[in-house]
Amino acid sequence: MAQIGIHFYQTLNDFIAPALRDQEINHCFFRRASVKDMIESFNVPHTEVALILVNGHAVNFDYLVQDSDQIEVYPTFENCPPSARLRLRPEIPQPLTFVADTNLGKLARYLRLLGFDCLYRNDYDDKSIAEISHDQERMLLTRDRSLLQRRIITFGYFVRADNPKIQIHEVLKKFDLYSTIKPLTRCTRCNGKLAKIHKEQIEHRLQPLTKKYYSNFLTCPNCGQIYWQGSHHSRIQALIDEFTNNWPIP
Ligand SMILES: [Zn+2]
Repeated sequence: MAQIGIHFYQTLNDFIAPALRDQEINHCFFRRASVKDMIESFNVPHTEVALILVNGHAVNFDYLVQDSDQIEVYPTFENCPPSARLRLRPEIPQPLTFVADTNLGKLARYLRLLGFDCLYRNDYDDKSIAEISHDQERMLLTRDRSLLQRRIITFGYFVRADNPKIQIHEVLKKFDLYSTIKPLTRCTRCNGKLAKIHKEQIEHRLQPLTKKYYSNFLTCPNCGQIYWQGSHHSRIQALIDEFTNNWPIP
């Protein structure tokens, strides 16, 4: 049997049992394990980790944990200057794009409403989501810790909030996206980029009253959906206003 001390810092404490937070945890183990597996045995996804120090020295995820190691684990993205990181993962690609897990449909729609590129399908399986995130360097948004434990995933974020309206603020704040919001530029249905279209080209698809009262239209080249500032617009605008206020999350 071997014994180590492991200490999770800052937001990584969100994942571990309350009794173990913000302190050195004495942990016994019997089988050789990588530090990645050791960290994830405490339910902390590797995608949330930016820096691992073992006995004061930075290591990567493949490091094999030794008897008596003192391990410090720091969270990604924040409170960790780039110079201090051993590059456990590359810098987040810019502009940041997303793929959302199947249970985050509303969050995906809200991100699209604010102009962010967010892939989502309610029939994605875990393997497909992980591959999309890896192949297209998209930030995977999920509430499933086991999905984030897949080694293939470099960029992933565990969404803490349950409520989609809190989730959107959480994501905007986490990735500092407030200044890059471009409302009503992306199709909320399929993620396509909206383009202006002349009324004459779509007149045959409009209801009589829409045809009579509106003259500016956008369309989605992917799915053909038509958008205009109709009666639903004030409701959508109110939603956008709510999201774009820099609303502090608890
Ligand atoms: Zn569309």
